[in-house]
Amino acid sequence: MAAPKKRRSIEVNRCRRRNPDRLIPVKRNIDVCPECGNLKLKHVLCGHCYAKVKAETQQIRKEIGKKEGGPFNAPTFETAVLYDGEKPTEKDEGKRIIERARKRPSWFLQN
Ligand SMILES: [Zn+2]
Repeated sequence: MAAPKKRRSIEVNRCRRRNPDRLIPVKRNIDVCPECGNLKLKHVLCGHCYAKVKAETQQIRKEIGKKEGGPFNAPTFETAVLYDGEKPTEKDEGKRIIERARKRPSWFLQN
């Protein structure tokens, strides 16, 4: 079996352990999210905002599931999501309409 032939001095050990190559590199690509102000990496979506969008999408999916009873009954045309106090416009004609019994979140734009 491989075994050390000579004792390593404490200095040599410390030099090896504290070598700058072994340290965790400092991240310089951290930015503030323009939406919520949490810290995030520059090149990725903000996790905080993404969780919000994910939760809202889950709710919408649940609503759709209640209406149509499963993914196999889904129509092939586009979907419009309407929030509390919104009326379908002429642009929404021919789309299936999902109504939500709450106010529209500020980040969820109507288009
Ligand atoms: Zn954010």
